[in-house]
Amino acid sequence: MRRKVIAGNWKMHKDLNETQSLVTKLSNALSKEEVKCDVIICPPYTSLSEASSLIKDSVIKLGAQNMHFEEKGAFTGEVSTSMIKSVGCEYVILGHSERRTVFGENDEVINKKIKKALASNLKPIFCVGETLGERESGIMKDVIKRQVTDGLQQVSKGEMEKIIVAYEPVWAIGTGKTASPEQAQEVHVFIRELISEIFGNDTAENLIIQYGGSVKPDNAHELLSQNDIDGALVGGACLEADSFTAIIKSV
Ligand code: PEP
Repeated sequence: MRRKVIAGNWKMHKDLNETQSLVTKLSNALSKEEVKCDVIICPPYTSLSEASSLIKDSVIKLGAQNMHFEEKGAFTGEVSTSMIKSVGCEYVILGHSERRTVFGENDEVINKKIKKALASNLKPIFCVGETLGERESGIMKDVIKRQVTDGLQQVSKGEMEKIIVAYEPVWAIGTGKTASPEQAQEVHVFIRELISEIFGNDTAENLIIQYGGSVKPDNAHELLSQNDIDGALVGGACLEADSFTAIIKSV
């Protein structure tokens, strides 16, 4: 049985004071006895160090929202894997649709980042998902297949075991529109089949596939009850302690 993983992507929200307040509330609300899943928070870079100190004795783990694939150098504005590791990150979100669409990251760049993260002993949360136009024109599975296979080029079976995949239909992110549990389940099964073809059935069976896209306390339980939905990547609803806690406790 796969353990569920709930991750919060804070995006460009929360300054240092707001981080202190939110992380303190979360660690007080999430006792080890009550929490039945893994919990990850992904604050902005400027809050990682502070969040890392505040979660020390809690169940919460830390992730970054991005990183560069080079180790160091003249890359103004970028952050390396050793930098995010040095402030306590275990995870890093890669391939998020906002990185793909707003910042022009393609499958090749995402693949470089995934390989660098793995080589640095970070666990990628690898996001894939189709736009509404792609779904409506019937090419959803082609898009997901391309994102999965190109993003995972030259990743070994052993490395694949460290990756979490997040299925995030772009049309459901920040829109209030959620994929129905059946729609999400169908794509999760498809992703698991793709992983099975590339890495074998055992790797596919153990793979954590999160759903992301307007997950809220009132829809989390139903989504998370689907056989192949192993967790959630949460945007908007992770910015308040009450709603993020409610999603975690719905597991
Ligand atoms: C996200 O950005 O990963 C996300 C799923 O956002 P939201 O929950 O706000 O749709």
